[in-house]
Amino acid sequence: MTIASPEGLVLPSYADVETAAGRIRGVAHHTPALASRTANERTGANLVFKPENLQRMGAFKFRGGYNAIAALSPAQKKAGVVTFSSGNHAQAIAYAGRLLGVPTTIIMPLDAPAAKVAATRGYGAEIITYDRYTQDRLAIGAELAQSRGLSLIPPYDHPDVIAGQGTAAKELIEDAGPLDILLVCLGGGGLLAGCALAAKALNPTCRVFGVEPEAGNDGQQSLRSGKIVKIAVPKTIADGAQTPFLGDYTFPIIQALVEDIVTVSDEALVAAMRFFAERMKLVVEPTGCLAAAAAFTGAVPVAGKRVGVIISGGNVDLASYARFLTPEG
Ligand SMILES: *Cc1c(COP(=O)(O)O)cnc(C)c1O
Repeated sequence: MTIASPEGLVLPSYADVETAAGRIRGVAHHTPALASRTANERTGANLVFKPENLQRMGAFKFRGGYNAIAALSPAQKKAGVVTFSSGNHAQAIAYAGRLLGVPTTIIMPLDAPAAKVAATRGYGAEIITYDRYTQDRLAIGAELAQSRGLSLIPPYDHPDVIAGQGTAAKELIEDAGPLDILLVCLGGGGLLAGCALAAKALNPTCRVFGVEPEAGNDGQQSLRSGKIVKIAVPKTIADGAQTPFLGDYTFPIIQALVEDIVTVSDEALVAAMRFFAERMKLVVEPTGCLAAAAAFTGAVPVAGKRVGVIISGGNVDLASYARFLTPEG
């Protein structure tokens, strides 16, 4: 399987996912594969959930963040890393940096969820804030990388980040056996691209679908039109999927390996969040519910199939979580 690389880019391959798996072994949690009889009855499918809300720092992002920092040279590690993130990647980089003894600088939006900002600061990162509706975080990151000699590790558009995220699907397929379908949420597509690399290498007949919020379907538009479509920052409760465009690394991989990208509504995310809390005793953040909501709503037809569902994370502040779980009065 070869994927045509855009000029000047070396795309990650499944071999890089295997290398990442070696780097994170014993550091990242090997999260379980979970089943739910209620979910199976509801969908007529055989669903296997990969609960990355139980990952270190509460999301799959630890996999890619740790892998990307661990891959740096000793001199790069000494100088430190910089990134920008609306939350979970920030925590992943801050936490991985602390574990690896690498200084971290994080550029975060002013309106990032309070729990995520507090957790990131708690891991010892230096935090710089910006306005995500008016300022360009890429430019801020590039400027800091240049002026301070830091390595920029963006949240999704980086080969080692993509490879690290792919270890989630590698574990799921190795633990649960072959799948007919794999459902993965996307923002910038790092998790989806990495998981597609792993799924297609281990289980070539598995059809991989991306799932994004209705309000922010730039990935769907991009896949269907054959070029990266940029949209305004979408308003959705799925804050981890508010990324307005796919990456130069993630898009060609998604184009080559992903069947389709479907969308679900914020209401469907809330219903899935309640399902996870009530039936599976799992705290899942809105973005983490995207893949499951595609199965529950029929956005991807799953009846009669064996289906992997990645639950991407569980970092939701308790006040919002309580509101989501409270039935409308
Ligand atoms: C970052 C994130 C996503 C989106 O991941 P991408 O690699 O940008 O597609 C989805 N869910 C959660 C919980 C996240 O933190």
